[in-house]
Amino acid sequence: GAKSSGRGCFHYFTPGMRASIQNRITLINDLRNAISNQELSLVYQPIFEISSQKIYKAEALLRWHHPSRGMISPTDFIPLAEESGLIIEIGDWVFEQACLQVAKWRRQYADNFQISINTSPLQYRSNTDSPADWLAWLAKHRLDAGALTLEITENLMMTDYDKINQRLAQLRQSGMEISIDDFGTGYSSLSYLKKFHIDYLKIDKSFVQKMSKDSDDLIICEAMVVMANKLGIKVIAEGIESTEQMQLLKDMGCQYGQGYWLAKPLTVEQFETLLGSNTRYKI
Ligand code: C2E
Ligand code: MG
Ligand code: MG
Ligand code: MG
Repeated sequence: GAKSSGRGCFHYFTPGMRASIQNRITLINDLRNAISNQELSLVYQPIFEISSQKIYKAEALLRWHHPSRGMISPTDFIPLAEESGLIIEIGDWVFEQACLQVAKWRRQYADNFQISINTSPLQYRSNTDSPADWLAWLAKHRLDAGALTLEITENLMMTDYDKINQRLAQLRQSGMEISIDDFGTGYSSLSYLKKFHIDYLKIDKSFVQKMSKDSDDLIICEAMVVMANKLGIKVIAEGIESTEQMQLLKDMGCQYGQGYWLAKPLTVEQFETLLGSNTRYKI
């Protein structure tokens, strides 16, 4: 045990660490009630067609408004949701909210509008019925699966990939589109393109942001765009923050883009204002 190995060797739980573990447990407990307490919401970041700068579709991004801590970033609470298994319930909630929103926008603005949602690989594991539940839910509400794109982060797709692939294929058959998020940051990016039947890849913002300063990142971006174009996969560049990045992406033939330079994630109300003024779906 720790004692017999001598003092000072086993600092598993320093005071700081204990606080952070306690903090995690507290946050997980708070997260457990976040749905019923109506603390979760979705914001929508438009995805633009680069050549026309018109809205192409929207990505739903989850927000947690904690009653005492304020806004907590999904980068902080999604890992807790995954660790605790709450990601299933939260993921189902996100799915249903986004479906209802896209159905509404289809009625109001354009009957072919689409929304992307972020999903965790855990939602496709064998121990959950989520994918089947989603399809049943869509059928019950008479909603078109083609209104949805499922984004999945590639670096977590490493494990259990046969099952994940099988379920993604089934969802794709129903009409949903599949997108690999944060492309280029995982381990076997290129092999996934062959293994998975995907519709989109999203170039991770780290490449886009370094593109104008680092010629290697520019080359990697160009290679991803060329490769995707040749494979018939649509490309979305994430994290566009400058005119220069826009121009470089346009020049290399990247079709779609997303980023603060174009628009930040917006509330439903803000998004609707934008839809009414700048969209290829404008009626
Ligand atoms: P992501 O799916 O790659 O989403 C892009 C993130 O980059 C978003 O952060 C977005 O607000 C931010 N972003 C957009 N444009 C720019 C830009 O120009 N510059 C910079 N620096 N950032 C930009 P957000 O909303 O904090 O989400 C972080 C991550 O949390 C997402 O990354 C996604 O992986 C995860 N996430 C968000 N919502 C959900 C959800 O409903 N389910 C799951 N499983 N994950 C989610
Ligand atoms: Mg995403
Ligand atoms: Mg991501
Ligand atoms: Mg990303």
